[in-house]
Amino acid sequence: MAEPARTIAEPQRYNPAEIEPKWQARWDADPTLYAAEPHTSHRPKFYCLEMLPYPSGQLHMGHVRNYAIGDALARFMWMRGHNVLHPMGWDAFGLPAENAALKNHTPPAQWTIANIAAMRRQFLRLGMAFDWSAEVTTCLPEYYRWNQWFFLKMFERGLTYRKKSKVNWCPECQTVLANEQVIDGRCWRHEDTLVEQRDLTQWFLRITDYADELHRNLDTMDGWPEKVRTMQRNWIGRSEGTLVDFTVQGAPESEAPITVFTTRVDTIFGATSVQLAPEHPIAKAFAATNPTLAAQIDEMLTQQKAARESGDLAAIEKHGVPTGNFAINPYNHESVPIWVANYILADYGTGAIMSVPAHDERDFEFANKYALPIRRVIVPVTATNPLPDLPYLDEDASILIDSGAWTGETCAEAQRKMAAFAAAERFGTPTVTYRLKDWGVSRQRYWGTPIPMVYCEQGHSGVEPGGVVPLPESALPVILPPQIEITQQGGSPLGRVPEFVNTTCPVCNGPARRETDTMDTFVDSSWYFYRYTDAHNSTAPFDSARANYWFPIDQYIGGVEHAILHLIYSRFWTKVMRDLGMIANDEPAARLFTQGMVIKDGAKMSKSKGNVVSPDDMIARYGADATRMYALFAAPPDRDLEWQEDGVAGVSRFLSRVHRLTTKFAPAIRALKAQHSHAQFAPQSIEGLALLRKLHQTIAKITLDFSGRWHFNTCIAAIMELVNAIVANDAAMESGEVPAATIAELLRTLTLLLAPFAPFLAAELWEEMGYEGAVFRVPWPIADAELARESEIEIPVQVNGKLVTVITLPAGSDDETVKADALADEKVDARIAGKTIVRVIVVPGKLVNIVVK
Ligand SMILES: [Zn+2]
Ligand SMILES: [Zn+2]
Repeated sequence: MAEPARTIAEPQRYNPAEIEPKWQARWDADPTLYAAEPHTSHRPKFYCLEMLPYPSGQLHMGHVRNYAIGDALARFMWMRGHNVLHPMGWDAFGLPAENAALKNHTPPAQWTIANIAAMRRQFLRLGMAFDWSAEVTTCLPEYYRWNQWFFLKMFERGLTYRKKSKVNWCPECQTVLANEQVIDGRCWRHEDTLVEQRDLTQWFLRITDYADELHRNLDTMDGWPEKVRTMQRNWIGRSEGTLVDFTVQGAPESEAPITVFTTRVDTIFGATSVQLAPEHPIAKAFAATNPTLAAQIDEMLTQQKAARESGDLAAIEKHGVPTGNFAINPYNHESVPIWVANYILADYGTGAIMSVPAHDERDFEFANKYALPIRRVIVPVTATNPLPDLPYLDEDASILIDSGAWTGETCAEAQRKMAAFAAAERFGTPTVTYRLKDWGVSRQRYWGTPIPMVYCEQGHSGVEPGGVVPLPESALPVILPPQIEITQQGGSPLGRVPEFVNTTCPVCNGPARRETDTMDTFVDSSWYFYRYTDAHNSTAPFDSARANYWFPIDQYIGGVEHAILHLIYSRFWTKVMRDLGMIANDEPAARLFTQGMVIKDGAKMSKSKGNVVSPDDMIARYGADATRMYALFAAPPDRDLEWQEDGVAGVSRFLSRVHRLTTKFAPAIRALKAQHSHAQFAPQSIEGLALLRKLHQTIAKITLDFSGRWHFNTCIAAIMELVNAIVANDAAMESGEVPAATIAELLRTLTLLLAPFAPFLAAELWEEMGYEGAVFRVPWPIADAELARESEIEIPVQVNGKLVTVITLPAGSDDETVKADALADEKVDARIAGKTIVRVIVVPGKLVNIVVK
């Protein structure tokens, strides 16, 4: 029984250039729309965060994708009733501002602030739902004063220190880089620039104090991608082993021994030499009286430098020279020759190793090259004849031979007992070493946070002349002088500003010089996400109660290129803040998602390759909704996305279809709402039921995907299928066969499902249908499992594994019915005629296979 034919409106033309600015203006005028509720809110909290951008002045497609993912999630969580914090800020210090200043004679601050304004406009045009009341800009004194405050707090706790050491120097950046910022021997900002080594006195943060916890927690951080956890594990490079002292033969007892670090103390009876890094103090001591050795050491240092700069230390051609001196193995009192070798690094382990050629690949190669003795001390538990080839590396199922009191022990047991023996005899100790080094944070650049330290010229009690004096908190912020001449030469630009440099010592009031280096910009991004919870606090970095409400971040989204930069520094900073009593969480983010890159013609978009697609162009042509929806539709978010303009056009056509469909039936939906008529109880038609089933299946799929799989590409595909199904029933809808209430439910819910992906169109259609309020605050639809269930299912039927036909029967039919229907099918009957049925296999809901002979 059909309803009477209804009023159908002339469908409107989809014009995002009209719809989108209209909604943007409305949203911009309402600062509460995307604002988080206070931490006293009764709603469950959800902190949704994308990594903050560097304000280059232009969003690129990688940004659009990153922020479209986070924006969809934030909107979904609002619709699920959460109190959502979805803020945005600017990682605003850094070198490009200085380079631009050089080129255009614009002060870095002015350039940066203008870029921020341009990018904020782009974000608004894209319809990103950010809480701008929590905006953080790291180059402003109101923010960077807290970098200085943290620096002083860390100094008090011994976590900040100054040291002369070999540091990485980028000639292009004209500054020092942290180890994490050197990638394959090259600068992280300049992939063609080899990093040099320089001896400089620099400030360091003692991240190694947290190496153990940084490593250990990775095991339980299930919400982080395994690849990121693995990269961090490798970077931290934890290894358990033993420190063993070899005394130098003939040296006075007062002289320091050679301490070697080994993970295989069980093989120490097979040590046939000790090898020192060229820079090891004992190597240098030998060289002092041996000019030939001194020259050889110099040459090895040059080789190391070259290898470091080519980015592959492991590939160094191994060279060594005997020093003519001998060391005593404390386990068997044997003398072994002391060598200096170019592949031993002063800054790894202790800068000295014992060489056991029989059981180490690298030692084996070296011993063969220089004809050093090779002595087997480990064999398989189960004797083999002949013994396995050398080097023999298997630790499991092996035992010691020719190893004194430890002969016959398994390797694992021997490692434990021999380390304990060394400790008891005071010539060694069990230990753990890390590859991770302290974080060098001094930068010889202008556009960064000034380091809040001065050097007291004449000295005072406890501080020698020129010694370091921390500023008191009351002296913060130390403001960057605004107008300075930027050049890339001659050291820190701040050093050329006398008004900045010359100051007085806060302790003795005598003359003092300020530190002229600035902080690594990764300091800024190490804690910015805490500031979002309390962005305008002028008496503390943030209020602990607020941070404790919002943290940990529920979902963090960004590029995998930060796996061992930002993501390790910010974990360190979190632990320091916890130990300062400021926060309760141990880790900053419960879940991390790393999205794939946006590529074009097979390569990452870049100016130099000329394959950049500008978001502005796409928006002008297809609208913001189509652009961001395409960024989610074209590939699963964790994979690389090959940008194709045809695809954006396709999404735009789809949105146009939705617009047409909805505006056509909008009057009917409005009329239905107005009359509260009994029409909604009109009997349901077969078409209507089928459409509702499709609708609820779509709701179920999208809801599931938002809970973690994030296959937004298939979510959007499912919405497209739903729209196809609705359009296919256009006639039934127009004629009244599908009740108005069903049409209303279909189109209302379709709009809600679109809201996280195409917010402008969703808002427009919501209003068009006569609904009130922000569509992003309407409760997310709930899938009705009963409605979603298929009433009929299709089951393929095979004979001897070959597909013969597909039968249709009511969902939930029992196996006997399925079997009977399959055997009764004409095609099947023709195939099995005259044969004997051996078995009929029914895989419920999936398949029937009939085995005949
Ligand atoms: Zn560089
Ligand atoms: Zn002083």
